[in-house]
Amino acid sequence: MPSGPDDVAVLVAKLRDVGGDRLFSQDARELSDQFAYVAGAHPEWFAPFREEVVVTELLDGFGPSFADQCVLLHGASDRCVDHLTAQLRRRSEFGDQWALAAIGTPAALDAVAWHVRNGGDREFYEECGVWVPPTGPAQYRFTPHRRAVFLHQGATATELAGATHPVGLPVDAVVRDPDRTPISWHYLTLRLAEVPGMPDWPVEQVHLISPRHWWDWSLTARFDEHGRYHSERVVAPEQPAEYDEDDGDLDALLPDDERDALGWVDLRPYDGDLVYCNGYIDLTPGVVGTAGGPPVSIYANPNCDSCGRLMFHVVSVEHRVRDYGDGRRSLFICEDCQLVTCNATSWN
Ligand SMILES: [Zn+2]
Repeated sequence: MPSGPDDVAVLVAKLRDVGGDRLFSQDARELSDQFAYVAGAHPEWFAPFREEVVVTELLDGFGPSFADQCVLLHGASDRCVDHLTAQLRRRSEFGDQWALAAIGTPAALDAVAWHVRNGGDREFYEECGVWVPPTGPAQYRFTPHRRAVFLHQGATATELAGATHPVGLPVDAVVRDPDRTPISWHYLTLRLAEVPGMPDWPVEQVHLISPRHWWDWSLTARFDEHGRYHSERVVAPEQPAEYDEDDGDLDALLPDDERDALGWVDLRPYDGDLVYCNGYIDLTPGVVGTAGGPPVSIYANPNCDSCGRLMFHVVSVEHRVRDYGDGRRSLFICEDCQLVTCNATSWN
């Protein structure tokens, strides 16, 4: 991995060299992981190269995820914004759109709004967590600050009750009406204030939970003054027969030790100790996902049931934070309407 700004200059030169094979070669993937490392550990090393990468059109091979680009390209010059806008007047390339949204300056957010209102793909930006309101600049519906979510298994019930970010709370601790709730599983509770840049929120914690469905579901809820969910609404297509709640109990598919797994997570800033691979850090021992940052930028994200605004991304983890169903689990909020939405996507 690079060990200083000079090494980043070498990486940028390699970006030019891999040329037409940028997107698909092994070299390109390794380069991409190295840029992701720079984004996580030393983003300041990249700042001198932002303009070169954008203006001389090296974005095709640049590779890191949108989340990484939000760190590396953040605050790039208006010259970069002008260049990308000129490109988008001619053609819509996803690399140009990612870069423009990732720059995140007032000029860049104005340009994203201009693009969407002039034929650009609104859904593309919403998948990245960027919302274009009826008037004014585009808005980030996420905090660019990321925290690695580390799982610790094997808590006692007492430790669980005292944990800042518990995993495996009883359902009746997080819902107001346990007899009526469609919620059957608690993955994780998060204290919002531990992630910089989250919206003001009237209760301390939010809960990532699951209904009795395998994947591809969405659950929206309101919450009381203790943060317990109520007025839950589940949207889920028909599940495969073997996982249907009438045909087979999802809970029964789990081994006993996993069914009862209790623990907690802690949140740590990104640094040089994480394993950066293919746009994720999940190969790092103990890491199960990321709090903060944009949503996983390949799926549709929820719009608020009440006001229609794109919801604010809080956290995304793998189901194995506490085994139930399969795939990624994410939590979103609307701070205006005080609604929470949890959803489940499969892998990418
Ligand atoms: Zn709303």
